[in-house]
Amino acid sequence: MTTILTPQDVTRIVQRVGLPDLMRRMVGYLEADYLRWAEFDKTPRVAAHSPEGVIELMPIADDRLYSFKYVNGHPKNHRFGLPTVMAFGVLADVATGAPVLLSELTLTTAMRTAATSVMVAKHLARPDSRVMALIGNGAQSEFQALAFHHLLGIHELRLYDIDAAATAKLVGHLKGTPGLTLTLCNSIAEAVRGADIVTTVTADKSNATILTPEMIEPGMHVNGVGGDCPGKTELHRGVLEMARVVCEFEPQSRIEGDMQQMPADFAVTEFWRVLSGELAGRESPEQVTVFDSVGFALEDFSALRLLHDVSRQLCLGAPLKLIPDLDDPKDLFGELRLSGQMQAA
Ligand code: NAD
Repeated sequence: MTTILTPQDVTRIVQRVGLPDLMRRMVGYLEADYLRWAEFDKTPRVAAHSPEGVIELMPIADDRLYSFKYVNGHPKNHRFGLPTVMAFGVLADVATGAPVLLSELTLTTAMRTAATSVMVAKHLARPDSRVMALIGNGAQSEFQALAFHHLLGIHELRLYDIDAAATAKLVGHLKGTPGLTLTLCNSIAEAVRGADIVTTVTADKSNATILTPEMIEPGMHVNGVGGDCPGKTELHRGVLEMARVVCEFEPQSRIEGDMQQMPADFAVTEFWRVLSGELAGRESPEQVTVFDSVGFALEDFSALRLLHDVSRQLCLGAPLKLIPDLDDPKDLFGELRLSGQMQAA
């Protein structure tokens, strides 16, 4: 039987485990799967674009488990009372094809994206990083803020959003977090000045220029989260030119990441090579590093595995009869119980 996890179930998981501990465990699952990179059957996600947004399918499998995520990105969705990003996903058994878990992934995407950002920043940001600029204070922002505070030791956040109400919402959620100072800024440049890490997590279906080269200081790490779709970028190409650029899955990132602006021979490093120790992460204290994050199917695979394990430990989730339960697997028609009606007709 398939298990279903609703947003309420995932909320209960977060409340029982605690958000920092759940994201810490998620980093562990992500690292375990990224270290098995070669074992996965990988493909760039399949995207359906429209004037207002995109709907994407993100499949991946190893020899035991298959997963996919359905996710959208519609930056103007707030007009309809809907979030920019909504998602759900499935984990299935490769041996039989049976779906094991059907889960909400809207909340979970925010947690897995923040956990991925931290996993990468552990290798690219300077170890003494304490101050992070957070540009874009919408749905993802609390998760990024708390992941960097609890898992990476960030103790000051410099906040900016073109929408003051979004920043006020973020401050409302984060104020009172022990050891975390919040500084409200009047511009991107003001927020970025003096920061060790700059996280951009804005949403606009355009080639925005959130960060320009003159804002970048030696030794900064840029965690670029919002540029994740063709025609939707956040970084001026000069920022990429001055940096060591790390991505998730190069064939997908070349299409969707900020690096879509760069020529095909622009040098980028897939993160798994850094995690495995094959290549160095940060190479000097002065180096500028960029994580050109777009979100890769492997991260949802890891998140679904974690949700599956934790929900079983906590006895959360409900059985869902998604597939017909047949007495005779060859008698699918019998499931319709139409025999009497067929004769009557
Ligand atoms: P959201 O719409 O809730 O928030 C985005 C915020 O960005 C809004 O508050 C908006 O006012 C602000 N913004 C827009 N333009 C800005 C600008 N020029 N300067 C400052 N702020 C600006 O969206 P969200 O769910 O928080 O997602 C943010 C972005 O992250 C989206 O683009 C989404 O596609 C992307 N995303 C990426 C990943 C990944 O894995 N890389 C995962 C999830 C979401």
